[in-house]
Amino acid sequence: MGDSCIFCSIKNGDIPSDLVYSDEGFFVIRDIEPVSAVHLLVIPQEHITKPNDLKTSRNHSFIDMMQVAVYVAEKEGIIESGFRIVINQGKDSGQEVDHLHMHVLGGSRLGIIG
Ligand code: 5GP
Ligand code: ZN
Repeated sequence: MGDSCIFCSIKNGDIPSDLVYSDEGFFVIRDIEPVSAVHLLVIPQEHITKPNDLKTSRNHSFIDMMQVAVYVAEKEGIIESGFRIVINQGKDSGQEVDHLHMHVLGGSRLGIIG
């Protein structure tokens, strides 16, 4: 996918980022505008726009994406203190970047939702 996608540009090295983890299926960066002490973004290497578009193949499934999120949460030391995983999908969620991504939030007290 093209130049217009921020996350594809980060993946291609055209925009710098703080890379935390990378594998065949996903890469993880620190959010540029963190809303908590730890604020990571788990991003498919492929330009995918919806959770439904995740392939069921190894390294690209939704479960793999969750496993990466939990792995980096552990790496950041927030497994015990707690964390939140969020996907914004579509207009009503306020999604800004079209390329599917998971927010991993923790390291400080989060606002209550629900
Ligand atoms: P969304 O609202 O689409 O779920 O979240 C997009 C996230 O991407 C936002 O939290 C925003 O701060 C983050 N973001 C936008 N542009 C950049 C960037 O260039 N670098 C990084 N590291 N994060 C970005
Ligand atoms: Zn993209």
